[in-house]
Amino acid sequence: MRELTYVARHSVEWREAPDPALRSGREAIVAPVAATSCDVDSAILAGHGFLDPPFALGHECVARVVDTGDAVTTVATGDLVVVPWSINCGSCGHCRAGLTAHCTAVPHTAMYGAPIGGGWGGLFSDLVRVPYADAMLVPLPDGLDPVAMASAGDNWSLSWRLVAPHLKSRPGARVLVVARGSIGLYVCDIARALGASDILYVDPDPGHRKLAESFGARTAETLEPVRHGFDLAVEATGRVDQLAQTVKCLAPEGICESAGNHFRAGELPLLDMYLTGVTLRVARDNVRAHIPDALALAASGTVDPARVVSHVLDWEQLPDALPEKHLKPVFVRDST
Ligand SMILES: [Zn+2]
Ligand SMILES: [Zn+2]
Repeated sequence: MRELTYVARHSVEWREAPDPALRSGREAIVAPVAATSCDVDSAILAGHGFLDPPFALGHECVARVVDTGDAVTTVATGDLVVVPWSINCGSCGHCRAGLTAHCTAVPHTAMYGAPIGGGWGGLFSDLVRVPYADAMLVPLPDGLDPVAMASAGDNWSLSWRLVAPHLKSRPGARVLVVARGSIGLYVCDIARALGASDILYVDPDPGHRKLAESFGARTAETLEPVRHGFDLAVEATGRVDQLAQTVKCLAPEGICESAGNHFRAGELPLLDMYLTGVTLRVARDNVRAHIPDALALAASGTVDPARVVSHVLDWEQLPDALPEKHLKPVFVRDST
């Protein structure tokens, strides 16, 4: 089989690898049918990552199950499933507590698409081994489009987690979104659906701003600090200077969620944050724990993740198109 391999800045290519095989009764083999780039993949392709190539890329897809071990009970051959970005067993203490990004049954940070916790391959591959099928895979609900939900294993469900719990405890919160890619746009859509009273989306890209406006957000090209202007802020730029500006806009006891991946160091206005009373969370997402909730919101029809999909392309176009198409290109192949 082939796996799409990041080989150099702005460059990926197919490389041959052995077909994966079941190694225990708990495993499954899946074939991605709609795979897309995580926002961090754009940074990796631009050469901003900290991992040296080559490595298999991709950690967001909907896949078709093609084989399962004898002990697998929740999915079957032929099912369409969401594959989470992180490897998690479902039964260790962290997994049972919902901390699925910190599973202790595998090396810490074990994931698809980046060799930082062992080698698990990428999801831009013809076939993928899933080591804990019952714990990891989530059947795609009937009626949801694999192309629209290709991001459900990471960015879409992350975006749900960045705002949904906070809007539940702070109904009608004013939301600031400072972003560059799909996460910020999904956040606008979800925040509006869940009752945010005001959303300001900040991004220099005019196309992204237009999409955010279609989700009911006000927009700005750059962030002009608004003192005590927002109850909840989401920063997804990878830039510490943007995070610093974002936290300065929070109301007393405001919450800032950062989607992280700040590959370069920087300073935060900690005294200002102390005086305001800011809660800042910078975290890899325990995505598996809330994929079902995020899919349920998608199935409710009150949101439209398909609108963020920027290109629908054939699987064979991956090597040429992935380095060029940056917002949310979805690569598809026959799912039968
Ligand atoms: Zn990701
Ligand atoms: Zn675990």
